[in-house]
Amino acid sequence: MDYQQILNTIASELHSKSYTGKVASYIPELEKIDPKKFGMHLYCINSGHYSFGNNEERFSIQSISKVFALTRAMALLGDDLFIRVDVEPSGDPFNSLVQLEYEQGIPRNPFINAGALVISDILISQLDHPKKDFLDFIHKITGNDSININTEVYISEKKHSYRNAALLNLMKSFANIENDIETVLDFYVYQCAIEMSCKELCTAFMMYANGGKRISDDYQILSPEKVKRINAIMQTCGFYDEAGEFSFRVGLPGKSGVGGGIAAVHPGQYAVTVWSPPLNPKGNSELGMYALEQLTTLTGLSIF
Ligand code: GLU
Repeated sequence: MDYQQILNTIASELHSKSYTGKVASYIPELEKIDPKKFGMHLYCINSGHYSFGNNEERFSIQSISKVFALTRAMALLGDDLFIRVDVEPSGDPFNSLVQLEYEQGIPRNPFINAGALVISDILISQLDHPKKDFLDFIHKITGNDSININTEVYISEKKHSYRNAALLNLMKSFANIENDIETVLDFYVYQCAIEMSCKELCTAFMMYANGGKRISDDYQILSPEKVKRINAIMQTCGFYDEAGEFSFRVGLPGKSGVGGGIAAVHPGQYAVTVWSPPLNPKGNSELGMYALEQLTTLTGLSIF
């Protein structure tokens, strides 16, 4: 498969493609990003790296960090985790409070904000230094110690966390949050503020394509059984209330973030990442989704 030629075709199509999406503005610092940025990176297990555009420029990974947080929590707690958070698609926006009220404070899945906040709470209870552990984990899976948070994004989101604070308060009223609201919110916003490039994110996601093994040395980071579950949750819940549409158009497990990034995997084949800041009305990168749809169309391969 000539992946570079396929990526070149996608790059030239994107050149002339118009979009109607808007860069996320509810975190003021994110709104400053140039909407024209576009990067794509594909890391194939057998044949290495392919890319174009701004694939080495770091951006705010935001909700893509929820996959790493779930990975850490599953390594620590195993299936006990799923007593406190379910694994069903929500069909609601990522920050919705509605379902939580009538489902007694148990979030639908670990990738909506409520679920990710429960995962943050679990990591805080389990770890002595959750922030350091989280960054160390990302350094370990990428082999790159320079990855860090963007402090401006972290501060900016902390000042505008009313909804996430509301979710935490509601869940605490149902006794599904152990630590204090401020501590959980702080850790959650910290993990969302991590910056990575498409290339770095692709390297990190290789473990989900590669049966839980780090690609550089085959070191087993997570068991294949747990990777299977994480990929299943990405497939069914990774795209806010548009997971069905993403499955329909692209056909790969993945996770998006409001920074405009999407990371996806074809298990046994490759990891792929895109970054384009303008978001469609459901909060997913508009051109990023298009590029991934073209990838699985032009290669003729998806998980389906
Ligand atoms: N930090 C963001 C929030 O909680 C993450 C949103 C996202 O990327 O989905 O609002």
